[in-house]
Amino acid sequence: MSQPETSAWAVYRRLLGRAKKYSFFLGAAGVGMVFEAGAASAFTWLMEPMINGTFVERDPEVRWSLPLIIIGLFVLRGLATFCTDYGMARAGRSVVRDLRGEVLEKYLRLPSSRFDTEPVPSMVSRLNYDTEQVTQASSDAIKVILTDSLTIVGLLGVMFWYSPRVTLVMLVVAPLIAAISGVVGRRYRQINRGIQDGVANMAQSAEQALSAQQEVKVYGAQASELARYTTLINRNLGLSIKVESTRAAASSVVQVLAATALAVILLVAGSEAAKGRMDAGSFVAMLTAMMAMLPSLKRITNVQSLVQRGVAAADRLFAILDEPDEPDRGTMPLLHARGEIEFRDVSVRYPGQDAPALAGISFTAKPGTVTAIVGRSGSGKSTLIRMLPRFYEPSAGAVLVDGVPVDQYRLADLRRQIAIVGQRVMLFDDTITANIAYGQPDGIDPARVRAAAEAANAAEFIDRLPGGMEARIGENGGLLSGGQRQRLAIARAILKDAPILILDEATAALDTESERLVQDALNRLIPEHTTLVIAHRLSTVEHADQVLVLDAGRLVEQGTHAELLARGGLYAHLHRMQFRETEAG
Ligand code: ADP
Repeated sequence: MSQPETSAWAVYRRLLGRAKKYSFFLGAAGVGMVFEAGAASAFTWLMEPMINGTFVERDPEVRWSLPLIIIGLFVLRGLATFCTDYGMARAGRSVVRDLRGEVLEKYLRLPSSRFDTEPVPSMVSRLNYDTEQVTQASSDAIKVILTDSLTIVGLLGVMFWYSPRVTLVMLVVAPLIAAISGVVGRRYRQINRGIQDGVANMAQSAEQALSAQQEVKVYGAQASELARYTTLINRNLGLSIKVESTRAAASSVVQVLAATALAVILLVAGSEAAKGRMDAGSFVAMLTAMMAMLPSLKRITNVQSLVQRGVAAADRLFAILDEPDEPDRGTMPLLHARGEIEFRDVSVRYPGQDAPALAGISFTAKPGTVTAIVGRSGSGKSTLIRMLPRFYEPSAGAVLVDGVPVDQYRLADLRRQIAIVGQRVMLFDDTITANIAYGQPDGIDPARVRAAAEAANAAEFIDRLPGGMEARIGENGGLLSGGQRQRLAIARAILKDAPILILDEATAALDTESERLVQDALNRLIPEHTTLVIAHRLSTVEHADQVLVLDAGRLVEQGTHAELLARGGLYAHLHRMQFRETEAG
């Protein structure tokens, strides 16, 4: 931060480094820029022969050749402009395309805890908006900086060519005007900002008074509301007048200044003409060059904010790209686990949280058994389950699969052992087949996908969809009911054939028929897996091999449904509260 200049430059260099791949297009654009600036200069240079040859000397050759040259010049310029714009757009947009891809890839490699610190909409805005700003810095700004400085240099060359003396006078006078109008402009913008703040206050005050009109009337506060509003509108009036007078005065001052400058130039040019060093044609050429320079000068002085915004955006994106990936230091391959899960004194504390989310949890889940996890909301059930695919790291203790701490496995291998059927089923706008085969290698046997759909009780509704397995399910599966989505998730888990199954039962009640189909599908899925389930249904808990009861991050009771009921502790209490309705139904 101490050297913002250099660090901004470092960011820009890094950005340019990414454009290197597209140097062919950048080169083409560069050639285009040279020709563009050259054509602009040549055109002003032609003013002299145009005036002198065509009108003063009435040279018949010039009368014919010049129009043709002008057409040729602008054809050339058109081609050059196209070359520049195409080349810069191609390079700039490609850099953005690359950045978008890399940033999304990076986001998906960041640890889960990173998602707690930045909301998803902000991430999406990084992808859309920041990358867009980066194009402007990387392509539009370069285009302005190069084309316009070349144009200015070319035009200055033309001016010097015709009269170095007059040019020098112009170079002294012009910056003076620029400086003065710059000061005036700043003052104008300052007052204008004041007005905008004032307008916001006015609106707020009016809105307050109007939306609380009943209170205002009951308390008889009309006069005080009006007084408050009046202060604001008076201030607005004052400021508006100030803005108008500054603007009017400024424009007059600038015009007088410009006229004075022109007068000085005319004086010098007149004396040059008297000495025979200048004629009508070269004077017009010089004036044209001066006028032609103005837009370029204006763009160049404004380009800095474009660059700043782009650099700031690029800085944010690079910061994301530089963040550390989720740790994956395990080296042990894991093809197909037996599925034994052990928690050894696991504690978890989320960053910035005082109380641990889990404290000293120990239990073992044997292959092929069902472990139901129950507890009040916030007791740590989801946290416990998140430890298994290493979404979060324990602050103490270890989670083991087949007797080996999970961080010793390769992360992708570990996660391949786990299928998750959650409350929120992620579906995307594609066919049923593609949704079930999500994450599977392309070219998977359709018969296997179909078998998974049947085992998940999903075939029943799929066959009723137009197109069957190939039916598209609309954005985020909007066409499907909750139960149907869950059965697709179950089919996905069946196809994945992972030894460990994590279930987060839906709390929202499914209708009985749906519930029966889902339960039936799960019953088919569960026996071959080590299942951890956040249980909300009585039947799940009753049939579980063990029930873990969590309270405020601690494992307070552990046993079978019957044992825990008999103990008459927290589980018995929760059971009465939570499952009464289900039992009745
Ligand atoms: P449950 O699934 O039983 O409702 P959780 O595991 O979601 O409980 O939450 C346990 C505790 O950890 C709660 O106090 C919750 O506020 C906190 N917690 C959960 N997720 C996060 C997170 N991503 N960041 C910080 N605190 C969290």
